[in-house]
Amino acid sequence: MSEGIVTASYVGATILFILALGGLSNQETARRGNLFGMIGMSVALMATMSAVTANWEILIVALLIGASIGLILAKRVQMTEMPELVAMLHSLVGLAAVLVGFANFMDPERLQHFTGIELTIHDVETYLGILIGAITLSGSIIAFGKLSGKIGGNPMLLPARHWLNLGLLIASVWYCIEFVNQSASGGGLTPLLIMTGIALLFGIHMVMAIGGADMPVVVSMLNSYSGWAASATGFMLSNDLLIVTGALVGSSGAILSYIMCRAMNRKFISVIAGGFGTTSGAGSAASVEEQGEVIALQAPEVAGLLLESKEIMIIPGYGMAVAQAQHIVNEITKTLRGKKINVRFGIHPVAGRMPGHMNVLLAEAKVPYDIVFEMDEINDDFPDIDVSIIIGANDIVNPSAQTDPESPIAGMPVMECWKGKTTIVLKRGMATGYAGVQNPLFFKENTRMLFGDARSSLDEVFKNL
Ligand code: NDP
Repeated sequence: MSEGIVTASYVGATILFILALGGLSNQETARRGNLFGMIGMSVALMATMSAVTANWEILIVALLIGASIGLILAKRVQMTEMPELVAMLHSLVGLAAVLVGFANFMDPERLQHFTGIELTIHDVETYLGILIGAITLSGSIIAFGKLSGKIGGNPMLLPARHWLNLGLLIASVWYCIEFVNQSASGGGLTPLLIMTGIALLFGIHMVMAIGGADMPVVVSMLNSYSGWAASATGFMLSNDLLIVTGALVGSSGAILSYIMCRAMNRKFISVIAGGFGTTSGAGSAASVEEQGEVIALQAPEVAGLLLESKEIMIIPGYGMAVAQAQHIVNEITKTLRGKKINVRFGIHPVAGRMPGHMNVLLAEAKVPYDIVFEMDEINDDFPDIDVSIIIGANDIVNPSAQTDPESPIAGMPVMECWKGKTTIVLKRGMATGYAGVQNPLFFKENTRMLFGDARSSLDEVFKNL
């Protein structure tokens, strides 16, 4: 393919990626956005492949292996495992940036292509690409561990951790200067390897120091890092498409991190510096016995309460994803709306285990978009709500975020469902949520518990409706 066609394809792919991001900003256009993204990626892959002039067989074999792994993973992964998969995919972007960086550095023709200031710029690009890639790689692996529960959710806080971070940063800058100085004479591998080790350690330390409830910010931040790593790789390879695509991912991830921080009432720098969610005060640590008694209901009683209501708010959480209860939720919603009962959904920005998790599930079950609201849009309406149904949610409806300054989730805005007439909580037992804190909501006078797997419980409620 001529260079002109390749460039035109790159521009086309870039436009498709921008359209994809635009589409993903709204539930109604998200499907179309995904389609644009897929077409854009196919165009980009074909254009990139057509620009390759040698070693075709290696490229084809690598593509086949990569595509097969991707296909098998996508087919096997459960909806509840999506956040872990996303974290794993981020780590692969980081790994790719590190490998491309080293391959670029070891290219025997490097010193013939670049000299003087151009070599310095190229070396700094390589160094940054590997640095960001290595942080993304190790940070994402730890995030994967935390999201899958293989690593505990509590923040690991080393003494003088900020000094440690500062030391690692200064060392990275120093090794960058060493690397650039040695590179012109054919050296530089040692500072590059040492920096890679430092960056891997930094990634581990950064994510280990972040408390469970702040993980949403980490997920979106690593998303952003993976974009910048790809962008740095684009500079290294002088590939405009990679630069632009990486920048799109990097900046959209950064915006998402900002939105998540705002949703959780956290300062981005404080989250990254770690340490939130460290203190667990008396209130949050109080045992079930100390909190009081819970009142349990059976499915027929819940169905009765729903039928008597005029205004119902459904608040889904991670447990709805675990139980795969979204389809029965939609059936119940249709039935109740058929009886002229106003049913709405309230979505907390960090409900579930990844940004937009609940919206994806509700869209999959074909819940109409116009009855799904963001927390900010409906949080003032609770005094007028007859029944709020909490489906497998916990941290996002925890009043101690407002009342207990020692709580790990203190200050996080929550859905104020307890202000309504009755709250019905569906969960299997009295286990805590992701942040590991007990929830005083379950012990409130106007709260009723429907114990059991959310799908089985809702199946029963549906039968009784
Ligand atoms: P939580 O993790 O706080 O609570 C989920 C609840 O669901 C649990 O208490 C559990 O209780 C219940 N549950 C689990 N399985 C089932 C089931 N099959 N049937 C019924 N109930 C079930 O979830 P929330 O959505 O309320 O809050 C999200 C949390 O995750 C926040 O702390 C957030 O910071 C964090 N997080 C969010 C991310 C994001 O991007 N959205 C990313 C990473 C973390 P029981 O076991 O008793 O049934």
